[in-house]
This record gives sequence, C-alpha cells and structure tokens, in this order.
Amino acid sequence: GAAAAQLRQRLENELEDIRGAGTWKSERVIASRQGPHLRLAGSGDGIINFCANNYLGLSSHPEVIRAAVEALEKFGAGLSSVRFICGTQSIHKDLEEKIARFHQREDAILYASCFDANAGIFEALLTPEDAVLSDELNHASIIDGIRLCKANKYRYKHMDMQDLEAKLQEAQKHRLRLVATDGAFSMDGDIAPLREICQLAQKYDALVFIDECHATGFLGPNGRGTDELLGVMDKVTIINSTLGKALGGAAGGYTTGPKPLIDLLRQRSRPYLFSNSLPPAVVGCASKALDLLMESNAIAQSMAAKTQRFRSKMTAAGFTISGKDHPICPVMLGDARLASVMAEDMLKRGIYVIGFSYPVVPKGKARIRVQISAVHSDEDIDRCVDAFTEVGRKHGAL
Ligand code: PLP
Repeated sequence: GAAAAQLRQRLENELEDIRGAGTWKSERVIASRQGPHLRLAGSGDGIINFCANNYLGLSSHPEVIRAAVEALEKFGAGLSSVRFICGTQSIHKDLEEKIARFHQREDAILYASCFDANAGIFEALLTPEDAVLSDELNHASIIDGIRLCKANKYRYKHMDMQDLEAKLQEAQKHRLRLVATDGAFSMDGDIAPLREICQLAQKYDALVFIDECHATGFLGPNGRGTDELLGVMDKVTIINSTLGKALGGAAGGYTTGPKPLIDLLRQRSRPYLFSNSLPPAVVGCASKALDLLMESNAIAQSMAAKTQRFRSKMTAAGFTISGKDHPICPVMLGDARLASVMAEDMLKRGIYVIGFSYPVVPKGKARIRVQISAVHSDEDIDRCVDAFTEVGRKHGAL
C-alpha cells in the first residue's frame, strides 16, 4: 500500500516536471504502412512523411514484405531461445555472411538492435589497460556502451581533429586505443571526417570504430556507408549498424569486422549471449534489402539527387540547413517554440515533420529535422519546400 502510493506520487511528480519543462514527447499514431505517404490517426490520408529513417523506402517494399512472409512460413514466428542454446537457423548464418560481404569485412554478428550491438562491443573488447576516444556528440547507445566498459575514457570535441590528436597523444600510455564515432550524426546531418580520423589513427596506432546507422545502404557510390563515401573502407576496423533504418526498417543490428573479434563477441557480448534470436520474418526483410542493394546501386544513388533538390531549394528560399550531402536535413530555427508551432502548421498542410529542441539538441539550436527518402517524388519534395516557405513567412522565420 504505502510504498506503491509513494511510488505513484513520485512518478506523477516526475511526469509533471517533464511536461513543465516543455520536453514531453508525444507519439503520433500511423494508421497505414510506413512509407513516403501515410495515413495518420487524427490527420487523415495523404500525409507526406519526412521524418522516418526509411532512407531507401524499403520498409514497405513488396519484395521485402514477401521475403518476410516466406521466412515466417518456413522458419516460424521465433526461436524462443538465445543463439548459442537453440536459436541459430540457416537464415541467421546466411544474413551474417551477407552483411560481411556487403561491407567487405571478414565476419558479422547479429543483435536484436544496434543499441544492443553498441552496448556489447566496448565491454567485450576493451579492458582497463585500453582506451576509448569518443566524439562528444556520439549516439546515446555508444555513450551507454562505453559507460559499461572499464577502459580509460576520453571524449573529444565534435569532429575536432586537433582535440582528437591531443587526446590520442594523452592516450599513448595505454595498451590499445579505439576511436569511436558515428559515421553520420543524426541530429545535425553531418558526416564524420573519417579520412582525417583514419590518418590520426594510423599516426597514433589506434583502431577506428564507426556507427553506420545513418549511412548503411545509401552513402557512398554503392551504399556501403561513410567509409566507402570517404574512401577508407580498408582503414576502419569495426562497423556497427542497424537493420532498422535503410535496410528494410524491421529491427536488428550487427557488428562487422575481423573474424576473431566477431568470434569473441559470440563468447562474451552480453546483449548477444542473454537475448533472444532475431525473428525469422525480421531476418527475411533485412536479407532481401541487402539482396536489392547488392544487385544494383541504383537505389543508393537515387538518394543523393533527392537530397540535393531539397537542400538547394530550401537554401534558395532563405532557410539554413545544417550538415552537408546527407538526407538528414535539419532546418535550423533556433527558438524551441517556433520549431514546435511550425511543425504543427506543416502537418496542417499535409507535411509530417518533427521539431527538436533542448535537451535533444543544445539550447537555442531548435530545428525541424527533415529526412529525405529515395522514394519521395520531386513533387513531394517541392510541396515540402513550398509549405516551409509559407509557414516560415507566417511565423517570421524567413
Ligand atoms: N546508433 C545510432 C546512430 C542511431 O541513430 C540508432 C537509432 O536511433 C541506434 C544506434 C540504435 O539502433 P537500433 O534502432 O537498431 O537499436
């Protein structure tokens, strides 16, 4: 009685604080499949969606859906087991082999999510004798993964190569140095300077780890990711990425890299050892998405032109778009309330975008994040730019 009542009161106070701080996150309900055009509960049909990570439009691709149904029929709903006890099917091994081939790495290991892949890798790989150097704006899951390991921790300023070099010099006293960075940063749409990072890593005898969640499938001539885009595929040692964004969007994550590392993760990585296998339907989706990408680079390439169209038209209209050459296009507005009312007004015009403000992004740097997908038509993009122009004028943002 008393403890439960006390807990309820404490939770209600905490929720009230979140509302009071204006940082409450509410969830819109989608009443259709994921895609460039949605039905939204409360807003109706024909909403143009600019806020999913569905970069290649594969989330509802007919062949991806068919592959999932076939895998479900043939291999069942799920494994009711972790991988090493009774949870590995041929499709799991096939997908791991395909991921390694896609990234041109020796081997790969699947996880239930990239969050799990990031939670598992640092603890399994690094000891108190080692060091990890992490970009200050890395994704929350990298930060949490690093928290779980006992290595010496260095945080360098966002994409600041002078600071990284200083930290690498400090870290020379440790046995092994691992530089960890997002390949593409999801809040700003900026791309890590991997060429420079790899040069520094070579100079100071360090390894490079990248999180490619916002790059796999569409950055680089064949969609291999940031390492392909910047010509350093042979210099990045470890890649973690997701199957939950461009690669079909169902769920799942992985690590790909040297075989002994992958072997060690299968023995030691806690989110791998103590969590259920990926369900067959999910494996089917990702496997088909990779087939489509390996058959032709046309899908990956279609992304760049769409992104360019949006970025140049918005800039010409007078908006500031953060980042460069990435389908994450943050429309910088500064004021949190402005970002929020503009996003609401955009939805009234049939354009679904989301405003981001503190604490998700720094104070005074509120923005509306637009994400372009290869399956947006030129007309979709132009309608989005027109709506921004109208709404921006109305609220004095232009
Ligand atoms: N890393 C980055 C950079 C991400 O953006 C995300 C997803 O938001 C993750 C990791 C986690 O990926 P998953 O959804 O597969 O857990």
